[in-house]
Amino acid sequence: MTYKTRLLIDTILRDSPFAWWEWDVTANRVTFNDLKVTMLGYRVEDFAEKGFEVFTGLLHPDDHKKTMDAMRAVLSGARAIYQVDYRIKDSAGQYRWYMDRGAVLSREGSTVTRLRGLVVDLGDERRHGTDVEALVHLLQRYAEGHDNAIGICSSCKRIRLSKDEWTTVTEELEGILTDALSHGLCPSCIRTLYPDMAEKILARMR
Ligand SMILES: [Zn+2]
Repeated sequence: MTYKTRLLIDTILRDSPFAWWEWDVTANRVTFNDLKVTMLGYRVEDFAEKGFEVFTGLLHPDDHKKTMDAMRAVLSGARAIYQVDYRIKDSAGQYRWYMDRGAVLSREGSTVTRLRGLVVDLGDERRHGTDVEALVHLLQRYAEGHDNAIGICSSCKRIRLSKDEWTTVTEELEGILTDALSHGLCPSCIRTLYPDMAEKILARMR
């Protein structure tokens, strides 16, 4: 692993903190690491020895149902993985985006007794409308050497995720990636900047 790659991975990890939780379903007790609550500005003792409601009560009203549905699907055995993105209220009253992924840890017969999950701060990237999962995948491919460069549009500054997908990233991430970026133009900017030639240019690029 090169120094640059390690720096990139360190930065991604530092900027993408994750917290974990474990739910004893039978007793309805949630245990978690400190980060799970400190990242939202709360004190650990306010959440200790409580049921899951202490967390779901902080969900954004628009995200409450889908989060409960995702959990019910795992408890009923319909799905193996609990997987949801939601907004949750921090101690200052602001909603922040998180990605929550969990799996069954133990069951008795067909009844799920324990679940464990990871919570990842989606941070500014999600607020900017970024497809975070696709971006992480892209960065992993670059860090592992499968891709030599990451394409960026010089005009709109979106990053190329795949052949037809482009996404916005924060200036901070753009700065971190500077050396990895290969500049070009995305199809929509080509159409805007060169309307007369756009279709011919795009046809040649395909
Ligand atoms: Zn563009």
